[in-house]
Parts: sequence; structure tokens; C-alpha cells
Amino acid sequence: MPDLASSIPALVEIVKNARNSGRSIGFVPTMGALHAGHLKLMQEARRENDFVVVSIFVNPLQFDRKDDLDRYPRTLAADMDVCSTVPVDVVFTPSPAELYPQEQLAFVDVPDLTTHLCGAFRPGHFRGVATVVAKLFNIVRPDRAYFGEKDAQQLAVIRRMVDDLNMPVAIVGIPTVREQDGLALSSRNKHLNAEQRQLATLLPQMLKEARSRLDEGQRSASAIREAIESMLRKHAGVRLEYFEIVDPGTLKPVEHVEDPVLIAGAMWVGSTRLIDNMTWPGDQERN
Ligand code: AMP
Repeated sequence: MPDLASSIPALVEIVKNARNSGRSIGFVPTMGALHAGHLKLMQEARRENDFVVVSIFVNPLQFDRKDDLDRYPRTLAADMDVCSTVPVDVVFTPSPAELYPQEQLAFVDVPDLTTHLCGAFRPGHFRGVATVVAKLFNIVRPDRAYFGEKDAQQLAVIRRMVDDLNMPVAIVGIPTVREQDGLALSSRNKHLNAEQRQLATLLPQMLKEARSRLDEGQRSASAIREAIESMLRKHAGVRLEYFEIVDPGTLKPVEHVEDPVLIAGAMWVGSTRLIDNMTWPGDQERN
């Protein structure tokens, strides 16, 4: 089993010992309920570093809905088993009081990257993410940190934060791990009943549909969006929150598509919100 540290001083001491013996530090921040997507990040961290730290922290600062925070799955015993298969060296499980012992007055904001996609619908979410990741980077002080491309906007925000604030850590993006039927693995998939689980595949299907339309030569993002919206309207039980085709660097919408783009969407299935994205041109092997 990996070491378990729930206090900042305990974690700092363990990582200091590793660093003092000349080992490189890889870090995978998570919110737990670990699945094969998280596992991929950890395996990559294991491959590239001498010492691997995983954090499990359901960060209140990034939740814009209390019900989502309250029902977020917490499965520490199973998570430790996943971590021990990698194996990970230490799992950091701070409490909210450990990370936020006083009112948080300092924040990290990357506003220009958060006006569209999830940022438009989840006020304060990316400020919460960037702030907790900055705190975790200062505690762990990793050489490399691993993030999933599934959360493409999050990855872009973290990369920009690290660049703009000269944080001494290399950010590694990992391709999305999917189920056989295309659904991206997510801790929130646990909330879906059998019927909703079926409907959830509409999300990757719509992204693929958009990608095939681009492959076929359609260039108008709004025409593609209309086709996708009418495809989803046929299904009661799902609600499209957004579908956007954006520039992968700026995350701003593109109307006439010529250069590579990110196709991203968020969809509600019952009371569960799912997100996904694909790039175009696509790598058929990956998605
Ligand atoms: P979370 O626990 O949801 O905060 O996710 C922790 C990290 O795992 C984030 O960097 C996510 O982007 C990444 N991740 C989540 N799901 C997947 C997936 N299906 N494939 C690859 N990475 C993922």
C-alpha cells in the first residue's frame, strides 16, 4: 500500500525525503472515485518519475452547486487499492480544513480562457480549480503534473497559469480514456442508472457527428451546431448545455472552420452533468 498523508507537514516531509535522495517527483491531482482514466495518468506519472504523489481532495472551492459537492462519490478504500496497483508512493488526502484553515483571500484567475465552454456555465469553477492546483503545487513541488484531456478547458487553464506565473512544473496532458461505447470515464458516471447510462453515449456520438461533418467538408460551425441540437432534441431525458467549436489555444468560438479545432460539449442526463471533447482533425485511434 502507498503511504497515506492527510496533513500538509506529513506530506511535505515524505516528499522532501524523496527529493533529497535525488528522485524526480510526479504528481496526479484528483478528486478520488478513481477509475481507469485516473489510472492512466498515474501510470504515465509512474513511467516518467522516480516518486509518484496522488492527491484525493474534493475541493469545495470549485463546486458551483452544493448538491453536486454533497453527492460527489467518496471511495477512499477502493481508491487506495487502485493506487497500490500502479504503484503510487504516497496518497495525499487533506481535509478542507487542512487546505483552507482560514478564509481564502488569494486566488488564481485565468479569465480570458474561461468565458466560454464550462466557464460560461459554472461561475467561479476555474478560479477554484486554479487556486487549489496552485496550492497543491506549492505543497508537493512536483517536477511534472498530469492532467486529463477530458477536461480540456481545465488543462488549458492550468497550462496558462503555470506559464504566466513561472511555476517550475511541467504539465503533461493525457488522452481521454473511454468505455467501449465511447463514453468518457468520469466519476460522475456512477450517478447514472441503466437507462441514463445508455443516453449518456449521445455525448461522444454528437462530438463524432460534428467531426464527421467537418471531415466531409462542412465548414460552418453554426450549421453543425443546429444539426447537433436537432439530433439531441429527439431524446427526452437529455438536455444539451452547450456545444461549441473553439480554437484549441484561445478556447474562443470559431465560425468558419479551417484550422484544427476543439469540439466540446456538456450535457445533462437527469440531474447529472457530463462533459466531453474531441479534436478535429481527429486521431481515429484515440477517440
Ligand atoms: P477528477 O478526479 O475528475 O478531478 O480528475 C482528475 C484528473 O483525471 C483530471 O486531470 C482529469 O482530467 C483526469 N481524468 C478524468 N477522467 C478522465 C478520463 N476519462 N481520461 C483521462 N483523464 C481523465
